[in-house]
Amino acid sequence: MDVFDTQMQALAKMSKEDQAKTINELMGMCICPSCPTYNTCAKNAKEGLYCALGKSFMCVSEEKGCNCPTCPVKSKMGLKYKSFCTRGQEQAQRYEHTVWGSSLVR
Ligand code: SF4
Ligand code: SF4
Repeated sequence: MDVFDTQMQALAKMSKEDQAKTINELMGMCICPSCPTYNTCAKNAKEGLYCALGKSFMCVSEEKGCNCPTCPVKSKMGLKYKSFCTRGQEQAQRYEHTVWGSSLVR
């Protein structure tokens, strides 16, 4: 089990209140607002933490670079992927890559 799996398991075992607190803490560490892909719509909608919460809801569709590789959440949560605002949360990207990399689709 890698860092991401361990963190997700820990999160799943928390109370709803502690989960919300942890999500808020991670949101505070998110550097999406300084990314060239992040836009006014996303800012007004207070979007962020796409790696955990999933794709942008109607705001971001064009990729202009990604700051995720230098974000403190990346190492804390053990993220492997990036561009979560357009490509989906870490869990979704991992699943997609697992399916396409499996023998089922060859
Ligand atoms: S890894 Fe990317 S989406 Fe996740 S908190 Fe950091 S900047 Fe935001
Ligand atoms: S997920 Fe990556 S590409 Fe999207 S706004 Fe955040 S840092 Fe930029």
